[in-house]
Amino acid sequence: MQTIRLYKRIALMLLALLMFAGLGCTRGASPSATQSIEPIVIATDAPEATALITPVPQPQLKYIFLFIGDGMGPAQIQTTSEALVAGGRKPLSFLDFPVKGSQKTASYDGSVTDSAAASTAMSTGKKTINGYLGLDSDKNRIETIAEALRNAGRKIGILTTVSLDHATPAGFFAHVDSRRSYATITDDLFASGFDFFAGGGFHSTPDAADRALENGYTLIHSFEEAPVSTDGNLILSSNLIFGDYGLLPAIDGGARANWLKKATDLAIARLTTPDGFFMMVEGGRVDYFCHYNDAGSFVAELIDMDEAVQSALAFYAQHPQETLILVTADHETGDVSLTAGDRTALLKQIISSDISDNTLVQECLAAKTPFEEALPLFASAFGLDNLTDDETALLKEAYIKTFYQNRPGNNDEEYGTYEPITTACIDLVAARAGVRFGSGGHTGIDVPVYAIGVGSEFFAGNYENTNLYDALLQAIATYPLS
Ligand SMILES: [Zn+2]
Repeated sequence: MQTIRLYKRIALMLLALLMFAGLGCTRGASPSATQSIEPIVIATDAPEATALITPVPQPQLKYIFLFIGDGMGPAQIQTTSEALVAGGRKPLSFLDFPVKGSQKTASYDGSVTDSAAASTAMSTGKKTINGYLGLDSDKNRIETIAEALRNAGRKIGILTTVSLDHATPAGFFAHVDSRRSYATITDDLFASGFDFFAGGGFHSTPDAADRALENGYTLIHSFEEAPVSTDGNLILSSNLIFGDYGLLPAIDGGARANWLKKATDLAIARLTTPDGFFMMVEGGRVDYFCHYNDAGSFVAELIDMDEAVQSALAFYAQHPQETLILVTADHETGDVSLTAGDRTALLKQIISSDISDNTLVQECLAAKTPFEEALPLFASAFGLDNLTDDETALLKEAYIKTFYQNRPGNNDEEYGTYEPITTACIDLVAARAGVRFGSGGHTGIDVPVYAIGVGSEFFAGNYENTNLYDALLQAIATYPLS
């Protein structure tokens, strides 16, 4: 220890002498004169001294995470974060990213975009017509950032909680003039050569296993089936699905809990190589529950996506000179605003409107359960404690309507798509929490962009959604791989 300290002192003295000598050479001249000052390198045996003067490695943009919360506007973010804090938990992890910006989301043909045009704008830098994927407004095929980076040798991952052929993920690999052309989108997915896909199944691929094999993919349906070897291309088409929409809602928990985080961890494990990676990770069901004005469920979807962001942050902590994390949205859904209320009401709901309709309501209908017996079931599922007489009366009216309407299926003007009792419960949660929905559709409000890491400086300001692509290219050009 003594010897090392001695070496260190000698090295520092040498360094001081050399610096003095260096300054001496330029005495009298301005430091900004034409002559540039070369970095001083001293060879020494002392390990601590060496550490002091080792040149800092230049940042290289090797690993890129792009998180997209579908329908995640500023109010959705604030609602979720306030609910977390009110519930004694940490706020959303990305709120304190050092760089903040915002995107204008209008599409080529409208002030309000759909997910296909928004995804295409972000992935290609071109505004297009609502419904188009990877095509410009004249239907010319345009290369996506994921395809360009694949061609440059990077590993590519596309992860989502909705189906793999849904608009947002498809905007990174498909080229078709209708987001509902699921067969073409699936063809493009298999042809992409991307290294890893994870999501909630496909709309229609009865022969998915054969096609995966033909196209060099291993197809699995759960994390347990993930191959140990990270070689080869992999598709995780989850079996935890809800209809043809995608994964089960996050709020319903079970095996679905932490799914997106686990998928992100698997992607990191498979894609981290010296060539670098680009991965798009979508919290796809925020949009869905904002369409249906189910506040507790959209909050759960956002918390679910944030868990995946935390995995990216842990990776960033290990690779701070090589990683960029972006968190943004494609558009806002539901025209959400916040008024006074108890935000913890959002965390007390433990069932989605979907599962309420499919299980609780069906069971009550089948057993002709009287309201007095049904009420505690719905109250505990939606966290509606201490019901007032007015609230109880409201639920009773909706419960009776659930029995006396034209079945099967309903589309009541007052109650919307869900069963009246389910709608009454989610409305009550939102009212207690102070969350208001002004719409059941998308809106044109700007959406936030949060950035941390190498190249994050290019994402500050207010800009068109196409700039996300431009800024990514700028960041990649500024911090090239050596
Ligand atoms: Zn939508």
